[in-house]
Amino acid sequence: MLHPQAETLLRELLDAFQAKYPSADATRIVAVAHFADLSHDGQLRKSGDPYITHPLTVALYCAQSGLDEVTILAALLHDVVEDSGVTLETISEKYGPAVARIIDGVTKAAKGPGETELTYHKLLSRAASDVRVLLIKVFDRLHNLRTLDAMPPEKQKKKARESFLYADIAERLGMWAIATEILDLVLRILYPEQVEALLGRFSAPQLRDEAAEVRQRLSDVLPKHEVQVYWRPLGWFYDRAAGRLRTSEESSSYYDLLVLTEDLKGVYSAFGVIHRQFRVVPGQVLDFVANPKANDYQGLHTMIHLRGRHKVRLMSREMHRRNEDGVLHRFLEQQQALSYYRHYLDMLRQMTEERDLLVDDVMAHLAPRAPILVLTPAGDRIHLPQKATALDFAFSIHTELGLHMSGAVVNGQKVGLDHELKEGDLVEVLTSPEAGPQRSWLEVPVTVLARQAVRRALGRRIRQKASLLGRQLLEPHLEALFEGQRGIDGRVLSKIALPSEGVLEDLLYDGPKVLTRWIALDPVLEALRSLRRADFYAGFCPEVTEHDPFFQVAECCTPLPGESILCELQRAHGGLLHREDCARVVRARSVPARWAFADPVRTMELSMRAKDRAGLVSDILEAFRDLKLSLSSVDARIEGAEGLVSIEAVDVPLSTLASAGPRLRQVQGVTAVRWSLRRAH
Ligand SMILES: [Zn+2]
Repeated sequence: MLHPQAETLLRELLDAFQAKYPSADATRIVAVAHFADLSHDGQLRKSGDPYITHPLTVALYCAQSGLDEVTILAALLHDVVEDSGVTLETISEKYGPAVARIIDGVTKAAKGPGETELTYHKLLSRAASDVRVLLIKVFDRLHNLRTLDAMPPEKQKKKARESFLYADIAERLGMWAIATEILDLVLRILYPEQVEALLGRFSAPQLRDEAAEVRQRLSDVLPKHEVQVYWRPLGWFYDRAAGRLRTSEESSSYYDLLVLTEDLKGVYSAFGVIHRQFRVVPGQVLDFVANPKANDYQGLHTMIHLRGRHKVRLMSREMHRRNEDGVLHRFLEQQQALSYYRHYLDMLRQMTEERDLLVDDVMAHLAPRAPILVLTPAGDRIHLPQKATALDFAFSIHTELGLHMSGAVVNGQKVGLDHELKEGDLVEVLTSPEAGPQRSWLEVPVTVLARQAVRRALGRRIRQKASLLGRQLLEPHLEALFEGQRGIDGRVLSKIALPSEGVLEDLLYDGPKVLTRWIALDPVLEALRSLRRADFYAGFCPEVTEHDPFFQVAECCTPLPGESILCELQRAHGGLLHREDCARVVRARSVPARWAFADPVRTMELSMRAKDRAGLVSDILEAFRDLKLSLSSVDARIEGAEGLVSIEAVDVPLSTLASAGPRLRQVQGVTAVRWSLRRAH
C-alpha cells in the first residue's frame, strides 16, 4: 500500500505518461513504483515525507517531459542501489539492462579517496552512451533544490554550489526553462540579500509601467502577433567570475520583448514591420533562425530605440517551445537529426577515456560559456569554445586531421594552426604527411580534447625516438661483440634476450645497469652488462633535428643552434639541451649532441629579454650588424621593467649562430636569448 501522498503522485505520473503514450501499458510503471516503495520502506525525506515521494516526483518530471518508459523506470529506481540493498544485477534481471545502465550512471561511486572524481567519471561515461542519465540527474537535482527548505542552511549552500553544474548541463542540452529554474533556486540560496535587492528593482512601478508601454507600442504595429515582456531570469544577472549579482541602471536590462508568431513566415514579416516602424540600432541583428545556437536555440534578434534601447526577439510559437525544452522536445522525434547532441555525447565519451582529466577541464568542455560557431567547407556547423584555434577545429573534426595539420584556410586566407577563430568563420584544414605535433603545439589549443591528443602524440613520438636512440647506442657494442656483423634486427635482439623496444628506451636513459634485470647466461648480455657507463656511452652523439619533440632547449642556458651542446637524458621527457658550459646541467646523465639543422637555417626568430634601458635596442642591432645577419623584421616592446626585442633573421649559417649566442649575451643587461624556427609551412 502506497502512502496517500505517493498514491497521488503515482496517479499524476500515469496520467502524464498516458497523455504522451495513449496506447502504452503502464503496469510495469505501477509495479516498479511499488517495488521502489518497498525498497525505501521506512526511509523519510528531511521534510518528513515518505522517501518514495522523491523518486516518484523525479519520474513525474520525466513523464511530463515526454520521456519514455525506460527513463521513468530508471527514475523510480534511481536511489535504490545507493540507499537500499538492491543490486544492479537484480535490476538488470527484473527490468532490463538499459534501466540498470542508467541507474549505474546516476549512482555515486564507492566511498573512499577520489570518490567525487569517480562519481563524476561514471556519470559522464554513462551519459556518453545514454543522454537519459543526464536528464534524470538534472530532474533529481531540480526536485532536491525545490525541496531544500528542510535542510540546515549550511547544507543548503553546499548543495546549491554543486548545482551550478546541473544548470550548465541543462543549458547545454537546450533545456532552457529548467536551467533557468535551477540557477534561480541556487542564487536565492547563495545570495539571498542580493536577490532581494534585485527583485526590488524588478517590481519598481516605474519599470513595470515602462515595460507595459513599450509592449503596447510594439503590439500596436503587430496586431496579428503576440507580444510579451520577457523578464530576465536571475541567472542573467549573475557574474560568475565575481561571484555576485550585477544590477544595472538601465531599465532595458531587466527585460526584453518577445514576439511570438504563428509560423516562420510571420517571424520575418514581423521583423520587416519593426524595422520600418521604429528606429533600429545598427549592427544588432542576429539571425539564430538560419544559424541556430550551439544548443539549438532559434530566434531572430534585433534592437530598437523606444524610450531607450530594447532588444526584441522574434520566434514562432514552435521555436519558442523548442527553445524552452531543448533536448527533451527532440528526445523522441527524429533522434537521427540530433547531430549536435551526438557530437556532444561523443565528446563526453572521448573525455571519459582520459583518466587524468581534471574535473575543471571536463566542466569547461561540458559547458563552455558562449561557444562560437564555425563552418566546415561542407557547411557542417562546429561549435567551439571562445578563443578556439584552427588546431582545436581540426581536432574537433578528427584526431588524425589534427595530428597531420600543417595550416588552415580561414575565409579564403591561409593562416597558421594557432589562428584564433571567430564566430561564422569558414575553416578548411590543410594537412601534410610531414606535419606532426611539436612541443610548441601544447600552447595552441584551448579545448581539452586537442590538448590531450597533442600530449599523447608527443609522448608517443618521444618514446619512439628514445628507443631509436637506444638502438643507435647499442648497435656499435653489439657489432663489436658479434665481430663485425652489421645491423641489429629483431633476430639478434631476441638472441641476446632483450624482449622489447622498451628495453632500448631503458638502455638510452639508464645505461647497461638496466640489463641486470635480466637473469641470463648469455655471454653477450654478460659482456654488455660488465661495461662501465662511460664506456657504454662513449662516442654516442645524438643528432638534433628541426621540430623533433624529443629535444627541448633548457631554460637555464637556452643554447642556440650551432653552439656546443650537451643532451641531458630525462626519462619520459626526452633530451634537454644545455650549453656545454652550463652550470646546471647534470653531467652524469648527459651526452654530447650535435645540431643537424639545415644549414643555413631559413627563418628564425631570436628574442632577447633584458633590463630595460636607453640604447638597448640599438646595442642589440649593432650586435646583429657585427654578425652580418640579414634581418627581415625587428620588434621591440616593454614589459614592466624589462625590454623584449624580437628579431627575425633569414638564411642564418649555423656557424654564425654559434658565435651569435655569446655575442648577444654580452650585450649589457640581456638576461635571456631565446629562439624559435618559423613553422616549416
Ligand atoms: Zn643549462
